[in-house]
Amino acid sequence: MREWGHVTLFSPWRYTADRVARGLLAAEGWRAPSDDALPTGNDLVDQYVAPLGRHPAITPHVRLNARVTAIGRKDFDKVRTKGREQQPFELHLASGEVVEARAVIDASGTWRRPNPAGSSGLAVPGEAANADRMAYGIPDVLGAARSRYAGKRVVVVGSGHSAFNLILDLLKLADEAPGTGIVWVMRRENLDSVWGGGSADALEVRGKLGAHAKAAVESGRLTVLSPYRIRSIARAGDKLAITGAIRGNQQDLTADELIVCAGFRPDLEMLGEVRITIDPWLECTSALGPLIAPNEHSCGTVRPHGAKELSHPEKDFYVIGMKSYGRAPTFLLVTGFEQVRSVVAQLSGDFAAAARVELELPATGVCSTTSVDSATGCCGGPAPAAVDACCVQDADAKADGKTGCGCGPEPPQVLQIGSLAR
Ligand SMILES: Cc1cc2nc3c(=O)[nH]c(=O)nc-3n(C[C@H](O)[C@H](O)[C@H](O)COP(=O)(O)OP(=O)(O)OC[C@H]3O[C@@H](n4cnc5c(N)ncnc54)[C@H](O)[C@@H]3O)c2cc1C
Repeated sequence: MREWGHVTLFSPWRYTADRVARGLLAAEGWRAPSDDALPTGNDLVDQYVAPLGRHPAITPHVRLNARVTAIGRKDFDKVRTKGREQQPFELHLASGEVVEARAVIDASGTWRRPNPAGSSGLAVPGEAANADRMAYGIPDVLGAARSRYAGKRVVVVGSGHSAFNLILDLLKLADEAPGTGIVWVMRRENLDSVWGGGSADALEVRGKLGAHAKAAVESGRLTVLSPYRIRSIARAGDKLAITGAIRGNQQDLTADELIVCAGFRPDLEMLGEVRITIDPWLECTSALGPLIAPNEHSCGTVRPHGAKELSHPEKDFYVIGMKSYGRAPTFLLVTGFEQVRSVVAQLSGDFAAAARVELELPATGVCSTTSVDSATGCCGGPAPAAVDACCVQDADAKADGKTGCGCGPEPPQVLQIGSLAR
């Protein structure tokens, strides 16, 4: 989170601090931030994650600087079944230490596994060799990474909210540092689906990001190439020589730096000896696939879910958080808090609590598939603000005189509303 600490979240504090965690912190004299304020990643660490880590109920159970490299069942390889569930898990750490555990909850996220620049999902020729001039994610171009990008010609790949954030920061940098040039390349065919829900988006800031990015493009302050496919990256003198194509017509670029904001994927290698079921294309926990599939779903809400949907053939093993969504970009912290609550209840033997759903998600705005470049979008993304439709495809269908795209929002899943939803 520190690595994207300069980024302002699109969810206010009411959706980014868990109810139980709030209770623990309050007992220690914590002053809760305003529910409506928007934290940055750094705020979230400084005002929430770090104080929680220092909480006396939590500190004794945290092992810092312990990187897990592999997980399995002690003395049982993946093939052996009889007596398997009685065996402890075995976690191998990078330090060489082996830790045993009754249960494992893998919440290791996807941040360390960014998608490559290639539109096929593979790194393009030259991508690894030119890594010194490339960055993935959202570098802090106005802060720590400023000198690297000021006055440079920067190519940005991606069309999601990470790319919006980056583009807006680069525009500010260009105002302050003459000579900074920005080329924004996207795989998308239809730019309208990139901009998101505008003022109709329930998570308002996310809508505004799209609107700002659109205005910057229309003002001509940056060059946009779409639908652009990068084919290779090479070094030409001191510059990056990027070859690519728009609809089959070759169009090459020269750049000082290339930043790829094309989403993330999970690290499944460390789970090679655990019996898991993974959606074949999203690489999410299998049962979640139909709930979150960005090409077909979540025009309304991603249904809250818990231990049942998150279970694997391996008993007492769960993947939660961003990693449970695999390559799907729609994960929200509130969804993760609900996952944790249910999984912990299940592992503690409180099966009734595990089966309950105690979350209300914002009615719209969860449909943020614009944050992944490779996906074609949730029915094309949220509908334009002025249109009575659930998504771009729905709007297009209605404009053609049809009743709609047929996906429609799911009925609201309001069960028990905790303080998160106040
Ligand atoms: C820029 C950005 C903005 C976002 N904004 C929002 C928002 O506004 N609202 C919202 O709801 N969600 C937002 N998200 C999505 C999501 O909620 C966050 O990504 C959130 O941090 C995911 O939490 P996580 O715990 O699953 O993973 P992470 O926060 O990525 O945490 C994973 C942790 O596991 C550790 N780890 C990884 N591998 C290992 C290993 N092998 N061994 C041991 N430890 C390991 C990592 O070091 C890290 O500490 C945003 C995401 C990004 C990237």
